[in-house]
Amino acid sequence: MQLPTTIRILGVPFEVALSTRILDRGVDGESNTFRQEIAILDGAPPERQGALLLHEILEVIDTELELKLRHATICALAVALYQVLSDNPGLFAACRCGHEKGGNV
Ligand SMILES: [Zn+2]
Repeated sequence: MQLPTTIRILGVPFEVALSTRILDRGVDGESNTFRQEIAILDGAPPERQGALLLHEILEVIDTELELKLRHATICALAVALYQVLSDNPGLFAACRCGHEKGGNV
């Protein structure tokens, strides 16, 4: 998976960057809602990076919406949703009005 350099979460843009420095803090993914940044472990296998990104997206959603999810729940949702999205790449390709991916409507 090619990671995006920016991603919008709840309407807010976040910078996405690969990093090895986060290993100093003992993590392989990290999100900062104040700085609007997500760091993913550089060198991790592509599928792992995708799952890590989804995990951090869920962390941001949990923080911003004050869901107070248990970390184990976030981990489980990230793995499960990443698997579903990976196994069904065209799942959200077309909008309800019938336009294909990339349309403006
Ligand atoms: Zn986490």
